[in-house]
Amino acid sequence: MKIQDLSNSNIYYDQGKCFGIVSNLNYLSPSKFLVDHNTFNVKQSRFIPVYYHENKITSTVKFIANSEVIIFQFNCDYDLNNKSFVINWNKSDFKCLSCKSHFNINNNLDQCCSLIDAPVQLFDAKIESIIIAPEDYLEEIRQCKINFINLHFSSIIDTIIL
Ligand SMILES: [Zn+2]
Repeated sequence: MKIQDLSNSNIYYDQGKCFGIVSNLNYLSPSKFLVDHNTFNVKQSRFIPVYYHENKITSTVKFIANSEVIIFQFNCDYDLNNKSFVINWNKSDFKCLSCKSHFNINNNLDQCCSLIDAPVQLFDAKIESIIIAPEDYLEEIRQCKINFINLHFSSIIDTIIL
């Protein structure tokens, strides 16, 4: 597998292994998440479920990184070449790159903006799950941003109840 073989939103499959780009410093992901490479732990030993057609196909994901690109890799029996994928992110410190506001993992600050279209930089980023070939790719991209925002900011309804 060569880095040049990888596209930014599709799986590359080679001899029982699937590869995809977690973060590319030269390219903003379709969901506009940018990972801080200095704080990304390539040895994070967590179970990261990978879903394909709503079936969990593995929980063992490895990471490879160089100065520009972080890649995920998992073993797989299916040829998933060129299938699109979406990464769901867990809670972490982050910065809204459009407002330049920095939020801590346990922040209780108000949202700086809607964040939906803003590029967001993740520090000590952790992947929650990877969805392969979602039925509605654009909706899934939007949903993963919404989920991330909801993890960090209580909704208006929550605030009223509190
Ligand atoms: Zn903002």
